[in-house]
Amino acid sequence: MSHFKPASGFDPRRAVSEHFRLSEFTRSATADKHQLYNIPREDCEFANLRALAENVLEPARALLGAPLVITSGFRCGTLNRLIGGAPQSQHLYGEAADFIPKRKSHKTEKGPTVEEAAEILAAQDNLPFDQLIFEIRVRAGEGQSPVRWIHISHRRLGSNRHQVLSVLHTATGSKTGSGIVSLSDFETREACRAAS
Ligand SMILES: [Zn+2]
Repeated sequence: MSHFKPASGFDPRRAVSEHFRLSEFTRSATADKHQLYNIPREDCEFANLRALAENVLEPARALLGAPLVITSGFRCGTLNRLIGGAPQSQHLYGEAADFIPKRKSHKTEKGPTVEEAAEILAAQDNLPFDQLIFEIRVRAGEGQSPVRWIHISHRRLGSNRHQVLSVLHTATGSKTGSGIVSLSDFETREACRAAS
C-alpha cells in the first residue's frame, strides 16, 4: 500500500477500527454525482468516527454476528443539505452512521434482518449509543418494497442518552415512535388514529 495522502483531509483507505476503513464512512452516490470530496478534514471528526466505530459499531458487529454495511456515515455540510439531512445531524460531525447487517449468502445461515438487529442492539444496556433509530422508508410505486436501516450515534465527548426511536418516512412526511416500531405497528397506529 502506498502512502498517498490527499492534499486536504484524511486518506480514505485509513483504518478507523479493526473492521472499518474511512472510505466505508465517506462513500456516497450523491457526493459522487455532485463531485463532492466528502472527507473529514478535522482531527476531531476522525476521532469521533473512531470512537463510534470502536465503542458501538465493532461491538454491534460482534453481537449480530454479521458484517455491517454502512449506507451513510460522515457527511460534509453540502452533502447533508443535498440529501435533506437534519441541520444539526450527528453525521456532520462523524458521530453517526446508518447501516444494515450483511445477510449471509448461505440459505441455512442467514444473519438478522434489519428489524431484528435493531431489537438486539436496542436491548444492550452496555452499548454506549446516543441514539439508535430504526428507520423505514416506504417508496411510492407499485412493487417497491420498503427500505429499512439503522441509524446509530455516539458522542465521544459528552453523555450518550441510549435513546431508541423508530421513524417511518413516507411521501407525505415522517412519523416518529419510541422504541422499535415495525411497519405494521406504524400502520395499525395510523388506522387507529384515522378511526378515532
Ligand atoms: Zn443517519
